[in-house]
Amino acid sequence: MGTLITNGKVVTARETFIADVLVEGRAIAEVRAGIDPAGHTIVDAAGMLVLPGGIDVHTHLDMPFGGTTSADDYEWGTRAAAIGGTTTVIDFALQTIGKRMQEAYATWRKKAEGKACIDYALHMAVTDLGKDGAWIDDVDAMVREGITSFKIFMAYPGVLMVDDATIFELMQRTAQLGALVCVHAENGTVIDAIVHQALAAGKTGPLHHALTRPTVAEAEAVHRVVALSELAGAKVYIVHVSSEDAMREVEAARKRGLPVMGETCTQYLVLSIEDDMGKPGFEDAKYVFTPPLRERKNHAPLWEALRQDVLQVVSTDHCPFRFADQKTLGLGNFTKIPNGGPGVENRMQLIYHHGVNEGRMTLERFVEVTAEAPAKIFGMYPRKGVIAAGSDADLLIWDPQAEYTIEAVTQSMHTDYSIFEGFKVKGNVRQVFSRAELVVENGRFLGKVGRGEYLKRELGASV
Ligand SMILES: [Zn+2]
Repeated sequence: MGTLITNGKVVTARETFIADVLVEGRAIAEVRAGIDPAGHTIVDAAGMLVLPGGIDVHTHLDMPFGGTTSADDYEWGTRAAAIGGTTTVIDFALQTIGKRMQEAYATWRKKAEGKACIDYALHMAVTDLGKDGAWIDDVDAMVREGITSFKIFMAYPGVLMVDDATIFELMQRTAQLGALVCVHAENGTVIDAIVHQALAAGKTGPLHHALTRPTVAEAEAVHRVVALSELAGAKVYIVHVSSEDAMREVEAARKRGLPVMGETCTQYLVLSIEDDMGKPGFEDAKYVFTPPLRERKNHAPLWEALRQDVLQVVSTDHCPFRFADQKTLGLGNFTKIPNGGPGVENRMQLIYHHGVNEGRMTLERFVEVTAEAPAKIFGMYPRKGVIAAGSDADLLIWDPQAEYTIEAVTQSMHTDYSIFEGFKVKGNVRQVFSRAELVVENGRFLGKVGRGEYLKRELGASV
């Protein structure tokens, strides 16, 4: 018969209640108190929370960047995700300039094949719409493959950045289709000018990565892309909002009723320039990601934005590079440091601890920003992101009393450091079910490598 999770406190984005959860096949069959246990395998969840599996909508697994490749491939990255209580990731397929989106899609499916340990979906990072927009129909083709969100970069000129006209044309098409444009919002050309001035002045260390990317350059790009989306009648999602300045632009757009949504990432909520940078030698390179770490004063407004639904999601932008042989590519020139940090394993525990335990958000809001809202925005709801009859049985048995210290030596991510080294959290995942299969117990991955399935996403909702 099925698996019956008994006596736990079930949490959804709306309520918390004591109930049993019956799992049959790969889905949730029933959620109510007093389900007859006869014939079922029992999982006793007394004293535990039962949460929907986490959804991390922003990862970069096996991604080429700056002459190297992110350190976690699909096997390592998705195993680390599972161990941390994330049962779905949306990774970025990256279009090569001069090549079609179909090729990037095929390349990323191949990277995941036989390796993904949990279910995964893809965004398409668009770098080239062809001469005079000749390849715009690729957008329709991707939607048919279940890729219903398209990322563009307003940063990294000459590498990934697209111009405003390209953004606008992409948005006109996504608006017709009901698809979503996701935006890396930073004014790339102005930042490049500031970077060149810094290098010319001999400011070559990793701290200058942060100091050359001001928050106003992030806010300006959010403002501009909101205007473009308004012109095109498109909905838009701002990825990795890192500063109060940028968040206020999202807030202003939402106050005007525009379909503008946004995420922040774990690191922007708990790390800062003051606390984590300015270390001797090359240590700061571990914290070189984009947008960079900000001043500590940004933390409280970002938490409040999550609470107030100005921002809807917490993701990680997981893009790990080892210190010893990858970050050191930028010794003597911070622009050569691979941009990115490891985080997919620690999102649930850090947001639970610093959010729920420390009174910055309710338990229900925690579930909403880590699972339900991502599922809705990205077209996976109610298959994912909620504990309800008919949904995939992606479930966490969460021990609210468990104490855990984050350390590189015990992590599953393939980096030789943790950006959260020494962080102590209370509340951690005990068991993880992915489509009804027990895949993690007490920090050990029990599933079969390659069991993860590609998720063909529907069009998402505006929330
Ligand atoms: Zn990213």
